[in-house]
Amino acid sequence: MLEAEEKFIQSYMDTCCHFTGLQHGTCQRGVAYKSAREGKSISCFQNEHILTPNTLCRERTFPSREDAVEYLRRANIRTQKVREGLCPDCNAELIDNTIKDGQHKGHGSLICPKCEKVKIWI
Ligand SMILES: [Zn+2]
Repeated sequence: MLEAEEKFIQSYMDTCCHFTGLQHGTCQRGVAYKSAREGKSISCFQNEHILTPNTLCRERTFPSREDAVEYLRRANIRTQKVREGLCPDCNAELIDNTIKDGQHKGHGSLICPKCEKVKIWI
């Protein structure tokens, strides 16, 4: 396994299964992130550097190594599909909506015309 993949797996295993991103305010279980915070520490994460883990959230559950490996396997398949210019969900040819000139050249999105959703932001 590549070093980058191993790092990803470790990071995935150190993030609660219910975490949705702090911008959402609450996790999949409806727990407010504010209520799981103690100083700079939040219950949604764990790692070997945290000496006294914050366990304010009783819903916290961390993925197993098998879960992480499976997630990575699926993510790699999706990435490969997008590289081939195909929608990872329906195989339709993606519309390249990236910026072609200027300062933001290469940035933008790839959109699936069938799913009608952005599949990747670049
Ligand atoms: Zn699609």
